[in-house]
Amino acid sequence: MKVLDARFVTTAVEPKGYPPGHTAEVAFVGRSNVGKSSMINALTGRKKLVRVSNTPGRTRTLNFFDVDLERKGVHHQVRLCDLPGYGFAKASKADKAQWETMITTYLEKRHRLEAVVSIIDAEVGPTPDDLATLDYLQAHNRRILVVATKVDRLSKAQRKPRMVALSKAMDLPLELILPFSATEKLGVDEVWNALLGTFGK
Ligand code: GDP
Repeated sequence: MKVLDARFVTTAVEPKGYPPGHTAEVAFVGRSNVGKSSMINALTGRKKLVRVSNTPGRTRTLNFFDVDLERKGVHHQVRLCDLPGYGFAKASKADKAQWETMITTYLEKRHRLEAVVSIIDAEVGPTPDDLATLDYLQAHNRRILVVATKVDRLSKAQRKPRMVALSKAMDLPLELILPFSATEKLGVDEVWNALLGTFGK
């Protein structure tokens, strides 16, 4: 697996702003501060493709990136959509309603969306917001991959049993839950393999 290129495409709020074309797309969702920006940077091998921030809730738009990959001699182009993080306590009600409309419209209307990566904190486990998001995605027949990040905070011996516990807590098959660490660059190939393997299914 080799990332050949990764670039920012555009920012959008409404469907008319979504980038056109037929590129297979993957969306990333998770609560604010879960490590979503760090994950996208690690997956694309870029330090600053997405700004890593300690100010949760700042990203209020959909951000699209195009990635060129080579896997087993085959070239793939994938479009990533970074969705604004949810669960930002200080956001106003109006802000929250606006984000929700933006996200649900995207998740329901985007035809080229092949899979949704739901990011959870491996240590914290799924929050009520995470579980509600998973329910919503399943209700809309979206293909899901759960990526449990920050596993570097768990000892090596804790990791596998933790994934089993998460799979039970989320009522999802174990193979849909992948351990990840942006700081240790752990799980990068596994996430790409899982994503590319779902396309067109
Ligand atoms: P976002 O708000 O979901 O985009 O989260 P960020 O990527 O900005 O990360 C939030 C915080 O978690 C930052 O302080 C990161 O340095 C930290 N973080 C992100 N990924 C990891 C990880 O894999 N391991 C550890 N230990 N910390 C991480």
